[in-house]
Amino acid sequence: MTELLAAAVAGIGGAERPGQVAMAEAVEQAIETGEHLAVQAGTGTGKSLAYLVPAIRHALTTRSTVVVATATIALQRQLIDRDLPRLVTALAPLLGQEPSFAILKGRRNYLCLHRQRGGPADDPQDSLFEPVDTGPASPLGRQVKRLHEWAEETATGDRDELVPGVPEAAWRQVSVSAQECIGAARCPFGSRCFAEKARETAAKAHIVVTNHALMAIDATSDIEVLPGHDVVVIDEAHDLVDRVTSATTGELSGPAVDIAARRAARLTDPGGGEGGAPAVADQLRQAAAALTVDLDDAPAGRMDRLPETLAATLKSVQDAAKACTDAIMASAAGLEDDPPRLAAARLALSSLGELGSTCARILGSFTEELETRPEVVWLDRPFIEDARRPPTLKVAPLEVGPVLRERLFGERTVTLTSATLALGGSFNPLASQWGLNLPGGDQLSWNGLDVGSPFDHPRSGILYVARHLPPPGRDALPEAYLTELEELIEAAGGRTLGLFSSMRAAVQAAGALRERVKQPLLCQGDDVTAQLVKQFAEDEPTCLFGTLSLWQGVDVPGPSLRLVVIDRIPFPRPDDPLASARQRAVAARGGNGFMTVAAAQAALLLAQGTGRLLRTMTDRGVVAVLDPRLVTARYGDFLRASLPPFWTTTDPALVRAALGRLSAADSQA
Ligand code: SF4
Repeated sequence: MTELLAAAVAGIGGAERPGQVAMAEAVEQAIETGEHLAVQAGTGTGKSLAYLVPAIRHALTTRSTVVVATATIALQRQLIDRDLPRLVTALAPLLGQEPSFAILKGRRNYLCLHRQRGGPADDPQDSLFEPVDTGPASPLGRQVKRLHEWAEETATGDRDELVPGVPEAAWRQVSVSAQECIGAARCPFGSRCFAEKARETAAKAHIVVTNHALMAIDATSDIEVLPGHDVVVIDEAHDLVDRVTSATTGELSGPAVDIAARRAARLTDPGGGEGGAPAVADQLRQAAAALTVDLDDAPAGRMDRLPETLAATLKSVQDAAKACTDAIMASAAGLEDDPPRLAAARLALSSLGELGSTCARILGSFTEELETRPEVVWLDRPFIEDARRPPTLKVAPLEVGPVLRERLFGERTVTLTSATLALGGSFNPLASQWGLNLPGGDQLSWNGLDVGSPFDHPRSGILYVARHLPPPGRDALPEAYLTELEELIEAAGGRTLGLFSSMRAAVQAAGALRERVKQPLLCQGDDVTAQLVKQFAEDEPTCLFGTLSLWQGVDVPGPSLRLVVIDRIPFPRPDDPLASARQRAVAARGGNGFMTVAAAQAALLLAQGTGRLLRTMTDRGVVAVLDPRLVTARYGDFLRASLPPFWTTTDPALVRAALGRLSAADSQA
């Protein structure tokens, strides 16, 4: 292992680091013993090599596949475009053969040639983005035209390779889900299908890179989407619970039911008679209209009780969807030999199946006692009325741990890694969420390892907590916060990343500070985020303010980022349906719901946010938390213990002086 890792490091052009060696050895041991492993490895450890080298070795020696799952496209790209090509070249001489690797995503991520070249085009009304103009001169029509041109030149059909991307409404015109695909054997384009080619390549690869959602679907459902494997590495594992929760969240809205009804109606015999599909499709359309009215009238937020009218409407949606399904199945004779009609049927059956199962989940979740319900239901309604986002009922699992425990950890050896896994100094909070620990103290066999960070945090960074400020209120940012921000930004000469807990706070701060500081100030929403981050990185004095995606997605080394400001501890909002239900469930079991759910979530985000400061060994700077509760509240110790070990102070003058010195040094450099 040591020899392989050294060759890998030399091949990639880096230096060997003790944390990387310790991690590679631990991953190798986990694979050998079958014990699961959680490894915290700070930025700069080189953790991708530390898991890829033992993973490749295992795949080659056992002639098997190892799956590597990431949360973000950026990391997928880094592994596929940068790390793996150089790694396999470096390792080939020592291993006696060149390891192979592939990327695999869900079918919806690949262009479907059948759909694009004459498969069932959606009626312009078959979209949640109503009314949709798909005419050639419309914005959507132009995007669809672009997709048709791209289809002629792309070698992979992978949506992420289309830059700039296209809106979801356009992509849906040329893609299908796994349930909507008619199957390669029946498809006239089966032999050229991009999704099928990706699957074939993945089936032969030693390493398959995928995303958390596909890995979770493969592990937790009966659909096999990934090649058979016994070892999984989950990178960016701090995001696993959220990604799996999203992948398993069901959604239901009036327009979505209406789309399914239109698809069902189109499959009917034009002369369809009594009891045929036209009649049942009409019933479904009526149920869709009733659902739209019910949801328009219902308050947003978590639903602990299902109103009777809504329950009756959901039952009618469920029954009508079942009747449509039966009617389509009854007229299925000959479909197999008629690919266009078969594709239309798959499209309709897939929508109907989803409606039926989401209705069943929602109705079923209210049959249990409040505290023991396994699923949470809520109504999501945009703050500003938006035709593209109708009021939507959502249903999500209260916990993903039980299913991961049984289907993922129970059947495979898993390594989970990230720069942030130990909360309050312990792996247990996340291990419990993943299902490695059970509330009764029972646990699967797993180890936690913190290999530290190559950065000298106490010397490179200051954690400043503005203890003298008032605690944040419910409303707008207090004037004292804006003054503090102004003074810090002036001292740093700009170079500031402002991480706010709400978009409203980010916009308010940007508006106020633009009047007060001379440095350029960008705010999320001014342009696409990637473009803003690029501008921020390229122009040293520029500041960037924003919210959640910036907490995890900014990687700007050097003098463009000397100050990270966090306006408040990022606890979930009290009306967050999932977090509040999870807190209640923990309390009902006798636990501390606030610490287990809200403080753990805040700790994870705070650690991610503070992690934006030091990206390379030479970076220096300050993380300023304006919320004094980080040092005054009882939970402050737990939160601070989740952060990198920066030198900590509450003295504003000292921090401004340090920022001033850094700014002067940067200006002279
Ligand atoms: S096999 Fe499925 S995904 Fe591939 S082109 Fe045919 S319908 Fe589309």
